[in-house]
Amino acid sequence: LPILSSFFIVYIISRLMSILGIKQRPSLPNLLCPYLSSKLSLDKPSLAMASTDFGNLVHKIPAAVFHPSSVQDIVSLLKYTYSHPLPFKIAARGRGHSCRGQAMVECGVVINMPSLSSTKPKLNINNGIDCDYYCKNNGGLNDNNGNVNVNVNGNGNDRIRVSQDPTLGFYYADVGGEQLWIDVLHATLGHGGGFAPVSWTDYLYLSVGGTLSNAGISGQSFRYGPQISNVYELDVVTGKGELFTCSKKKNSELFDAVLGGLGQFGIITRARIKLEAAPKRVKWVRMLYDDFATFTRDQEHLISLHGNYQELININDGLNYVEGTIIMQQADPNNWRSSFFTSNDQARITSLDVPSGILYFLEVAKFYYDHYDDAYMDKELEKELKGLNYIPEYIFTKEVSLVEFLNRVRKGELELHSKGLWEVPHPWLNIFIPKSQIQEFYHVIPNIIAKDNTDLAGPVLFYPLNRNKWDDKMSAVTPDEDVFYTLGLLHSSGFDDWEKLERKNEEILKYCDKNGIKIKQYLPHYTTKEDWVTHFGSKKWSIFQQRKTLFDPKMILSPGQNIFNN
Ligand code: FAD
Repeated sequence: LPILSSFFIVYIISRLMSILGIKQRPSLPNLLCPYLSSKLSLDKPSLAMASTDFGNLVHKIPAAVFHPSSVQDIVSLLKYTYSHPLPFKIAARGRGHSCRGQAMVECGVVINMPSLSSTKPKLNINNGIDCDYYCKNNGGLNDNNGNVNVNVNGNGNDRIRVSQDPTLGFYYADVGGEQLWIDVLHATLGHGGGFAPVSWTDYLYLSVGGTLSNAGISGQSFRYGPQISNVYELDVVTGKGELFTCSKKKNSELFDAVLGGLGQFGIITRARIKLEAAPKRVKWVRMLYDDFATFTRDQEHLISLHGNYQELININDGLNYVEGTIIMQQADPNNWRSSFFTSNDQARITSLDVPSGILYFLEVAKFYYDHYDDAYMDKELEKELKGLNYIPEYIFTKEVSLVEFLNRVRKGELELHSKGLWEVPHPWLNIFIPKSQIQEFYHVIPNIIAKDNTDLAGPVLFYPLNRNKWDDKMSAVTPDEDVFYTLGLLHSSGFDDWEKLERKNEEILKYCDKNGIKIKQYLPHYTTKEDWVTHFGSKKWSIFQQRKTLFDPKMILSPGQNIFNN
């Protein structure tokens, strides 16, 4: 009775405040039980951390930051707020690498996901523990299919473990949603002869839960699909505070909802990621073009040749990575995304006669799974690149290790950090463009992106993807065409001139709208319901809404995405 009456009083006060238009800042420590309260931070540095992201454009101050030490803590917090008459909102924060406040929550609670890493569940599935029960009650990593965990890893991280399916023999990694992809890479490489996930992002200091909430794309996606296409199973805490294990076979509605679901349906606390044997070496190649049509024709040729990965008989066949970038001829072809060219290469590039001043790099990588000699590797690479029409002799090749290749952005990041330039505003725009409309879209490149510029405000990515590697049942949105391009304008700006770049972004979006180019935003940002409905399309929007009602009916999760609270 006292509990019920205190709920009732809180409810009446809150209703009165909302009727009078007074913004509520609930005093969370008073509302929560002492155990949950002890995990909250309300100090200025914690609130400042949770109200900042990579974009540095949006700042929303939460009431508190929650530091879970187990999955059960997240369950308890969500259960608590769900049962409350006026629930406070919650957002999981992986690493805050969003650009527009997606992991923020004004006056609510930000869950600092990295806190889970200190969890050390003593899980040994061979000793008869009921793992499903254990996971649900202790926040451990779940292996509830009776699979043989062949590895106790030795990587010092109990939240990443490599296992082999006992029947089918394939390998996978169970990783905490808070884990960084760089740590997944190191842990899986350290297992047996070396394993690795097959689909990546360009930058690896992103959380598994954060990228799976979007899609996770890079140059491998044409062949293996985005990261969301390479997940076998998830543990998810829904907006009702219920913990489910889900997959294509079990609780599939939740599984499909959460992958690409922008944090709207639940918090990913574990993902089971597909692994393959790790390659021993990587040939990394860039080829230069001065003509957009030739550049895109060659990109499409490469992804069509090697896009049907299932049909490749030999793991050694085909290219493993296809991307592309747009650069200004007079600018440094290296940038923070990767340092690739020597000063000699740069001098050769600037000496070319390119009236438009715009150049295109087709970037590919081929993985080698054995220790071959150089002549053999060169012959194999030559076979893959046969028939391409890059500017003769303008092909640049490097041989690197897998870690050097996958972790290529880190060096630039550290350099920018040391100069205080990583923390500047980042008004990024990422869009998917249907293949049939890229010639119309081309107008944007010289007339908006490169207009009046001798340098661009950051890397500009442009490469095609195969839609048959995406699963339309999942929440992620793509154009409705077999092949579509991704354009990534990875702008960096000063603190007082980011609006100029934002206007450029708007100009691009307006141009597409006016000319009927059916783009979709990746890492989408909209502020009105109408725009979200257009983004999803009416059929997918209706499914998205139904799933929200099912898994987060009180609209507690990830309000920073502005989907259900605008
Ligand atoms: P956060 O910013 O912390 O969160 C993003 C959203 O996901 C929020 O809504 C949050 O509430 C939700 N969320 C976070 N964790 C969870 C969880 N465990 N369960 C459920 N929801 C959760 N993306 C690509 O696809 N390819 C790239 O190559 C790529 N490169 C990038 C390079 C840089 C330098 C940066 C800054 C970003 C890049 N991104 C790329 C974008 C990146 O994938 C997304 O911004 C991603 O969300 C970042 O992960 P995070 O852990 O920082 O997420």
